[in-house]
Amino acid sequence: MTVSEKRLSRAIDTLKQSGVRITPQRHAVLEYLLNSMVHPTADDIYKALEDKFPNMSVATVYNNLRVLREIGLVKELTYGDSSSRFDCDMSDHYHVICEACGKIVDFHYPPLDEVESLAEQVTGFEVSHHRMEIYGKCPDCQKQLTAKH
Ligand SMILES: [Zn+2]
Ligand SMILES: [Zn+2]
Repeated sequence: MTVSEKRLSRAIDTLKQSGVRITPQRHAVLEYLLNSMVHPTADDIYKALEDKFPNMSVATVYNNLRVLREIGLVKELTYGDSSSRFDCDMSDHYHVICEACGKIVDFHYPPLDEVESLAEQVTGFEVSHHRMEIYGKCPDCQKQLTAKH
C-alpha cells in the first residue's frame, strides 16, 4: 500500500466507526482530498469528480464535506469572503498561500506555542488556537509571469 492508500483506508475506518454511511461519492470526495496537496474548494472537488458522478451536485459535495468535517477527517479553512478550502491533514501545520492563484500549500514548522502563552499572559484571554499564513507567489505563477514578459 502506498502512503495515500494507507491514509484512505484509515479514514474509511474512521467513517465506519462513526457510523457514517460510505457512499461512492463520499468515498470519492475523501480520496480526492487525500490526494490533493492544494487544499481544494468544494467547487474544485465538484469539477474534478463531475465526469465520474454526473448526477452529483455542488450541494452534495458540500454535504459530504460537512459530514467529513463533523467526524474530524477534514478541516475547513476560511479566508475572508473567498470560498472555504478543505484540508485533510489534521496535524498542526501552517499554510503558504499564493496571492495570484489562491493555491494553499502545507508548511510544517514547529507550532508557535510560546506565542499563545504570551498572548494569554498579556491579554488575559484563554487562547484556543492561532492561525498563521504566509503569502507570496507560487512557483507555477512565478513561471507564468516570466513567460509573459
Ligand atoms: Zn499560484
Ligand atoms: Zn494544510
